Amino acid sequence: MNEQRFACTACGLCCHGMLPLSVEEAFKWAHVFPLAMSATPIKPGTRGYATKGVAVIFSAGAKKPIQLIVTPVAFIPPTAPCPQLADTGLCSIHEEKPQRCRTMPFYAYKEEESQRDMLVPRPGWKCATGDDAPVVYRDRKIVGRTEFQRERDLLQGQAAVLQRYVDFLGRYDPGFTVRVQTASKAAVPGRVIVGFVSYLRQNKELNVVDFARRQHPVLRKWQEKTSGDATAGQFLAYYRDAMADLERYLS
Ligand code: SF4
Ligand code: SF4
Repeated sequence: MNEQRFACTACGLCCHGMLPLSVEEAFKWAHVFPLAMSATPIKPGTRGYATKGVAVIFSAGAKKPIQLIVTPVAFIPPTAPCPQLADTGLCSIHEEKPQRCRTMPFYAYKEEESQRDMLVPRPGWKCATGDDAPVVYRDRKIVGRTEFQRERDLLQGQAAVLQRYVDFLGRYDPGFTVRVQTASKAAVPGRVIVGFVSYLRQNKELNVVDFARRQHPVLRKWQEKTSGDATAGQFLAYYRDAMADLERYLS
């Protein structure tokens, strides 16, 4: 029997940096998180990813279709804490936190039998993995898999909507096509970040003005927070551009 143990000691260290959200969560928390869309190519032959019914296929301008993980993200610099992380190191929205946080340390984009690596804490993280911690993974199966399954269902449920979005970008945003192709050819595939407003533009049923009213002050706050931080240049540039994009809906 092969078992792995894990317990969260609430050190708060994994609550830093970018946080994937569902589409629904992104809208719900637009007054809290600075939002972007992220597209990450899955390198052909990479093992362990649960691409069926979850990944999006990008065909525009590519000889071979590229599989992408596409997700809204709270676009937060790696060293910055989540805005919902309290000084105690605990989550201030524990009861309603995003599904990604609930499934941690497991990752629903990977097959259940490929979760072992997810249980190895990153340097500095204070997750308990010794004999006192409960067994959470046995013989490559998750012991309590409710949240994992919930996240998998959620990803499958929104895959069609994200496929339409990526098809839209492929048709109308040549820059996106070039960036995806470049990212997919890198030795370690990179992440392509796109303004969240592009998602709103292709989906006419959404209330862009309401979204802009809630999101703009958040971007401004993060712009102020990161200005002068030499390590957060990419984020600062994004916040500025995203604010400018939203301003046309606020006049
Ligand atoms: S929402 Fe809560 S659990 Fe999730 S990253 Fe933020 S503080 Fe951590
Ligand atoms: S790094 Fe580990 S111990 Fe710290 S909050 Fe995250 S899961 Fe819990």
